[in-house]
Amino acid sequence: MINLTEIMEKMPPNQKINYDRVLQKVIADWEKEAIRPTILLHSCCAPCSTYTLEYLTKYADVTIYFANSNIHPRTEYQRRELVQKKFVEDFNERTNNQVKFLAAPYEPNEFLQMVKTNNLAEEPEGGKRCSACFQMRLDIVAEKAQELGYDYFGSALTLSPKKNSQLINEIGIDIQKFYATNYLPSDFKKNNGYKRSIELCKEYDVYRQCYCGCLFAATKQGVDLKVINKEAKEYLKDRME
Ligand code: SF4
Ligand code: SF4
Repeated sequence: MINLTEIMEKMPPNQKINYDRVLQKVIADWEKEAIRPTILLHSCCAPCSTYTLEYLTKYADVTIYFANSNIHPRTEYQRRELVQKKFVEDFNERTNNQVKFLAAPYEPNEFLQMVKTNNLAEEPEGGKRCSACFQMRLDIVAEKAQELGYDYFGSALTLSPKKNSQLINEIGIDIQKFYATNYLPSDFKKNNGYKRSIELCKEYDVYRQCYCGCLFAATKQGVDLKVINKEAKEYLKDRME
């Protein structure tokens, strides 16, 4: 399997890296070697996983890993988890794929503690709290990928135009050094990926949330969490096992 560092070393120095091109080189190597690798792909709710699965399942066996203790409140977390799980089931049914779904335990206190210890509560969205949040989640995904023997770990987060893909990829590449699994570079918003995700959300009738996930961003954005909680409870009624 081609080494990511080898690809990066050949890219022009001091320039913004096009991580979609890096992914294309990785895929070209899979095709050359005639391999279909396994990927544990982090996703924080269904929208970013739509196009990402459409893209990756052409070349690899993918498992979605829902690992998002940053999401508040619990009912919204449960709603996003169920919506994600249902999307995977519907996607498999319509495309004849066999994407798997796994969820990490919900441990909101771990996230809150991390924010408190590092004094990140007042950070704006896109600031240091988000870097720490990506780091926390990607680390959990890498650890799980190593435990279960996946070839790659990565995140669907790079589909979102609101998320800093350069930063997410740098964090993933850094985390890779500590685990016996490979980081999957990506910038899924490229090639009209984001536009396609909106179409797919319509086709599959996927819920699109109105805030990123944590209490801090929601509060700053003026999101009414009582309404979120009420709507999530409504959704969960009759759907929880
Ligand atoms: S980045 Fe936003 S839209 Fe994409 S999966 Fe995460 S919460 Fe959902
Ligand atoms: S705004 Fe989103 S990415 Fe940033 S800390 Fe909150 S949940 Fe995490």
